[in-house]
Amino acid sequence: QGFKDYRLGEEITRSLDSLGYHQPTEVQRKVIPFALERKDMTVKSHTGSGKTAAYGIPICELLEWQENRPQALILTPTRELADQVTQDIMNIGTYKRIKATAIYGKQPFYRQKVQLQQRNHVIVGTPGRLIDHIEKQTIDLEQIKFLVIDEADEMLNMGFIEHVEKIIRELPQNRMTMLFSATLPKDVEHLCRKYMNHPLNIEV
Ligand code: AMP
Repeated sequence: QGFKDYRLGEEITRSLDSLGYHQPTEVQRKVIPFALERKDMTVKSHTGSGKTAAYGIPICELLEWQENRPQALILTPTRELADQVTQDIMNIGTYKRIKATAIYGKQPFYRQKVQLQQRNHVIVGTPGRLIDHIEKQTIDLEQIKFLVIDEADEMLNMGFIEHVEKIIRELPQNRMTMLFSATLPKDVEHLCRKYMNHPLNIEV
């Protein structure tokens, strides 16, 4: 199974070539075909497995460039991961000219507000600052069709569960939800049952 079996568009294929991604990793082989069918899923996998591209490739493929409101929201526990994911999405989306923006604390709120008014296909952020933007109505989540909860166990360890639930409740119901976690403790499973639609359980 190679990337060409997924019949990705020409722009994404070109980006993968430039990145030197010639073969999908195991998590990518397990995730990408179902993600392209917009199935909800819980994925047990570690950093370093290629998990970012496992969700980044299908999201970049499926999102519509012309739509000028954000279509994908990726939640991460830390700023470092938010920056890394933003960079990965921009790389995968280079030739489709996909715009991703990282939103997290310890950055001027006003500058983020301005960034959020520009065209963004993907928003990547930590829960606390996203809640601030939701409360101040400086973020538009009405057209979100893809939600990723990355490093879900870390997010819950850091006490972000209520923030995460609050954010999910702001999102449209007809969206695809993917949750990635190294471990699946009870509260992570609970989150999945509550907010996902017959999720596939994928283990790497
Ligand atoms: P991640 O698990 O998302 O942190 O990815 C780990 C590293 O693998 C990153 O440096 C990616 O750029 C790289 N990577 C992801 N997918 C592939 C692939 N299919 N082929 C080669 N490298 C990859």
